[in-house]
Amino acid sequence: MTNMNTPLLELKNIGKIYVSDSNVSVGIRGVDLTFSKGEFVAVTGKSGSGKSTLLNVISGMDTYEEGEMLVEGEPTSHFLQKDWEEYRKQYISFIFQDYNIIESFTVLQNVELALMHIEDPGKRRERAMELLRRVGLEKHVRHKGSKLSGGQKQRTVIARALAKDSPIILADEPTGNLDSQSSKEIIRLLREVAEDKLVVVVTHNFEQVEDYATRHIRIFDGAVELDHTIRPTTSVRDHAPMPEASPMVSNTARKTANTLRNGLVLGRVRFGATPKLSVFLCILMTVTALVLALVTSFTYDSRSLFSERTMFTHVEGRTVIVRRDGQIITDEELEKLAADMGAENYLHYDSMLDRTVGVSFEDAENGRVQWYEVSFGYPASDVKLDAGRYPEKDNEVVLEVPISFKNHLGQDGFEETVFPLLFEMATYKVVGVSYYYDNSRTPRMLFSENGYRIASAIAFFSNQRYNFGYNIELSVPENETVYHTSMQGDTYIDFDLPSKTYYANDGSITAFLADMGIGKEGAPEREDVLIHTVMSGNFFNYQYYYDHSYGGGYGNGIIVDVVKPGYGEESTVQHSFDGYTMVWDVSEGMKQDLETRYYERWQEGSGISNAGFMVLSPDILLEFMYEHYYTQAYTQASLFFENDREAHGKVERLRELGYTAVVSDETIEPDVFEVLEEKLNAGFNAFLFLMAIVFVTAFLSLCSSRAMNATRGDIAIMRSMGIPTTVVRISIYVQTLIALIPATVITAITCAVVYMLPQTNYLFPFLHAGDYILIASMLILVALNLSRKYVKRMFSDSVKKTLKGGSKA
Ligand code: ADP
Ligand code: MG
Repeated sequence: MTNMNTPLLELKNIGKIYVSDSNVSVGIRGVDLTFSKGEFVAVTGKSGSGKSTLLNVISGMDTYEEGEMLVEGEPTSHFLQKDWEEYRKQYISFIFQDYNIIESFTVLQNVELALMHIEDPGKRRERAMELLRRVGLEKHVRHKGSKLSGGQKQRTVIARALAKDSPIILADEPTGNLDSQSSKEIIRLLREVAEDKLVVVVTHNFEQVEDYATRHIRIFDGAVELDHTIRPTTSVRDHAPMPEASPMVSNTARKTANTLRNGLVLGRVRFGATPKLSVFLCILMTVTALVLALVTSFTYDSRSLFSERTMFTHVEGRTVIVRRDGQIITDEELEKLAADMGAENYLHYDSMLDRTVGVSFEDAENGRVQWYEVSFGYPASDVKLDAGRYPEKDNEVVLEVPISFKNHLGQDGFEETVFPLLFEMATYKVVGVSYYYDNSRTPRMLFSENGYRIASAIAFFSNQRYNFGYNIELSVPENETVYHTSMQGDTYIDFDLPSKTYYANDGSITAFLADMGIGKEGAPEREDVLIHTVMSGNFFNYQYYYDHSYGGGYGNGIIVDVVKPGYGEESTVQHSFDGYTMVWDVSEGMKQDLETRYYERWQEGSGISNAGFMVLSPDILLEFMYEHYYTQAYTQASLFFENDREAHGKVERLRELGYTAVVSDETIEPDVFEVLEEKLNAGFNAFLFLMAIVFVTAFLSLCSSRAMNATRGDIAIMRSMGIPTTVVRISIYVQTLIALIPATVITAITCAVVYMLPQTNYLFPFLHAGDYILIASMLILVALNLSRKYVKRMFSDSVKKTLKGGSKA
């Protein structure tokens, strides 16, 4: 391509003017010069005569307005920014007065920077060392730029200029800041190492270069005043094409890969070279990540914008069935169906799986009562226990709760100390716990098989209990007197009560008893079944103040069999006293036991109406529920298959058998208003989330702008060296993205610790995998945005301006 006769550089009538504000000043004018390889040109002239302008035009850092510059015969007046960049990359090495090495990089890194065209890092290192030996810096390769003397810096720059192996080396007063001894050495070195290149040295001290220069050009007032050959140029070996294979030949993909790799390497080097900036970035990114996590955590509601609702509580493999003919499924039918369908398990009265109930726990530490919504779980063997055992008795439960419950339950000994009260209707004993970290999950209470049945009955009954009325009509066979008592609402399930026992009291009963002559000597005693009128609204007083005046005993006991209350309507079924047995007294031990157990309720007066309340044994309740609800009205049941996929596979077969089956992962369209409210709420949260992101981004660029500006000079140097802009851009992105690594690790650890500690778990809504992906994406977006702004600022000014602005000279 290159003709031997074509000069390397040809300047034809070049003119450059500077227009600043309203001032127009001439940089250079009418410059006609031709340069060849092997020349060592000294340019002198007074300050302001245009020497630097000449070099800047030659280097392509400044454009010219007049004339034409030919590079190996090719005109350049039509060059665009990227052409100049390519030109600089291939042809130019620039040496400045104030060194322009990257102070935060080591000598070696500074030189390697110019060797990016060598792909193999080992070879790159080797070549850098070789060049540093040539400039006599082999002992200082690991020193940081900032630690070097002026002469050492300029040697580094020379090594760097050689590393590029470009045909043209331009030096603008390279020895301006050095003493005369070092100056001479630098010039000699330059001559030595750049024998076959075109070297143009601007100097105001011609004597320094006199011994080496082949040509002397003096500039006066922007024009060439003298152009004088001093000695012949060194013979130049035939100039091979540029060290880099010409861009036409090189494979684009390979080039891209190399650019990317160089960007990565440079980013990494930059990250390590400026530890303060890097640490600052890491801290900034960590804070950002933590804020994002926090914001994500507290706006978790916004995710329900996209969430779907299931018709039933989702339990893996659970399928809810009803008969299509509307008939009630019998126990036998369900058992057989489960076996036929290959279900792992089944649950007949499954409504409690889809409900939550309020449960109060007494805090083991401060004794405060805490309320929680819990759902029922079954079977208990579903969960892995962290402590305790599985329930054996009906009133024993396993709690599956967030780790923060450790505070409430106490670290150990919960079995002895904690008694949650279910609906205030029954007392349960916690025998085992299973902790989890996801505090967005509803806590569960898990029971034994029969315990689940009873608990379901209690839960259902407690919801409905104000629909039950008891109107007990007692008639005395002997005198035909009829007594009434009624009760409503307050029902307690006592697991220790003998079966078929029912207690009630009312003034009328008392009167009735008196009429019956109960409390008198010789009344019949029965212990198999009993009703004891435990209390009325002010039973306690009654008991204590009226005891002695009331026949001198605890004489309020009557015994009947199960009272059959009505269901679903106000006060109903009447009970005839006929046929019921009664005894006079309960044993002293039992009475005291009851008093102790219900003492606090009496004291508080909570839930005790004047109508009195009923204490039932679980068996009585269950019997009632079976008789009046389960076998009369409850049509649903659940089958449990191995997983949802298998469950879906069974739906068709169940249909054929006459059932409607819904796998519990199926979603439904909920109520319009509910959706609206939920979406509004979610939308508001999403808005908050976005606001937070915007705020964080603004805050971040505010914080980092100064720190990043500090490296502005370095970037300009890299560009002046002809490092491709893309590589520099990538390196900026890489630098910020590297800071994400510690930020991510720290945030992950923080989240893990926060969620694992009982003391902090409940403070922050739990983050799920999707949330972490969201946080990561936001973090990356924030980092990219920051880098983008930084890049934009770094490349907004021309290299020359940045370098001049940054120079101390
Ligand atoms: P030298 O390097 O010989 O001291 P320069 O090439 O820097 O001289 O400057 C030549 C002329 O161009 C001077 O008059 C100077 O004021 C002017 N000049 C140089 N750079 C600029 C610039 N960026 N803006 C305006 N005028 C400039
Ligand atoms: Mg100058």
